Amino acid sequence: MKPWAKMENDERSQKLREIREEIINFQGSSLAEIRRAGGYCPVVGEGNHYAKIMFIGEAPGKNEAKKGRPFCGSAGQILNELLEKIELKRESVYITNILKDRPPANRDPQPEEITSYTPFLDRQIEIIQPKIIVALGRFAAHYLLNKFGLGDKIQPITALQGKIFKAHSKHGEIQIIPFLHPASAIYDPRKKEILFNHFKLLKKI
Ligand code: URA
Repeated sequence: MKPWAKMENDERSQKLREIREEIINFQGSSLAEIRRAGGYCPVVGEGNHYAKIMFIGEAPGKNEAKKGRPFCGSAGQILNELLEKIELKRESVYITNILKDRPPANRDPQPEEITSYTPFLDRQIEIIQPKIIVALGRFAAHYLLNKFGLGDKIQPITALQGKIFKAHSKHGEIQIIPFLHPASAIYDPRKKEILFNHFKLLKKI
């Protein structure tokens, strides 16, 4: 049996379900109010609860907030394409975001929103215990480097992309790898090529 086909009633799934419930009822950010008022969904995350690789994006877009699934719009198409190219099944990894609710008009996450939502992400990382965390874009990269005591390595994403940072987590040594955000490649084939090269690096690891 593939690890991602494990029964959904194990301890990890139970803990992840608790996080989902908390996010649904979350009162700690105006983004959750906006979501409820607009009839949108929170985007908690999806994938293999035993994933070795976790992808962390920035925040849900409109498509994601309609469906409650991460990376299911045009940035998601790029991500899917890159995963297919390196023959990594989307169901074998875990995909989530820094924010679990969509910022209006897809604006950048505000520092207080990152502070409000990242305790959920921190718990997801502790439950899933990935060996590799791919940070998609600068917000995820900067948050993760700070979280794992590598704040002094923070640089613009163009300087961080494709570099491997070793870090100590509660579940042991992990690797943090910042990539460009897939949305940046939607209208820029050169960035798609850069991303493809970095995905190939991921396959090698
Ligand atoms: N961009 C993100 O950062 N996350 C998504 O889920 C979709 C687009």
